[in-house]
Amino acid sequence: MLRNICVCLMVAALGAGCAKPRTSTPNLTAYSERSDAIVTSSIVDRAQLTADLGQPMPPVAGVSLSGRTLTVASNEQLVLRPREVVLTFDDGPRPGKTEAILNTLDRYGVKATFLMLGETVEQHPALARTVAQRGHTVGSHTFTHTNLTTLAFAEAMAEMQKGHEAVARALAGSGFVPSRFFRFPYLAQTGFIRASAIESHLIILDVDIDSKDYYKDSARTVMERTLARLDAQGQGIILFHDIHMRTVTMLPDFLEALQERGYKVVTLRSTGGTAFDTPLVTAGTNGSSTTL
Ligand SMILES: [Zn+2]
Repeated sequence: MLRNICVCLMVAALGAGCAKPRTSTPNLTAYSERSDAIVTSSIVDRAQLTADLGQPMPPVAGVSLSGRTLTVASNEQLVLRPREVVLTFDDGPRPGKTEAILNTLDRYGVKATFLMLGETVEQHPALARTVAQRGHTVGSHTFTHTNLTTLAFAEAMAEMQKGHEAVARALAGSGFVPSRFFRFPYLAQTGFIRASAIESHLIILDVDIDSKDYYKDSARTVMERTLARLDAQGQGIILFHDIHMRTVTMLPDFLEALQERGYKVVTLRSTGGTAFDTPLVTAGTNGSSTTL
């Protein structure tokens, strides 16, 4: 109990967003509580998706919200200019919500970065492929969304590796590979773990503006809070989650507001691979090798 309180305080001290901190045993069922309405064993047919989710709205006319494509090889290169934002969505993919977010992003002609959880990607591999196929950048977010600062170092590194490999397996065969972008669950990290992640050629995707869309606020409250923080900073990497309906609901108005305010949405790409992309033979399992 004391340990849980300590963890909670530590996470709060970090100002961490990225999903509401779990103060008890990680609830691994949280991501599988919904029944799937979409077949995940094969690539989702887009026409079927459209039928399931309603006809996507036509593209928005007028000033383009889409900005430059920023391709980086390291954290140091990830520098935004004034009025530039990067949209990021964590913890998905989530059937019924991720597709709607993709439709909204399409409508505004912008690309986002999706930091996916390994365990979630394994449940919905076709949806992960759909995100990549529609031009978005896919990165990882560990396998089980564990606060890595609570783990032994080797376990923390294994969580990162397992998450990245799960995303790579899901994308395999679709012509896409994961980017090198990685986000710490709850943004919780130590200097040593961060340095080791970078040593493994991950690019840490920090957060400048936390929408806190994991709070049980209205969609409007989330939008106004996020816009207020953005306007105060003038640029930044924005954290959303594609697992909440309030995020689905607020996104069109949010993008409309970005456009009105003259912001540009930067498409983020990474070059090269991670240390986890090399052929790996895992000892002590079933003897099979995983080649990414
Ligand atoms: Zn998260």
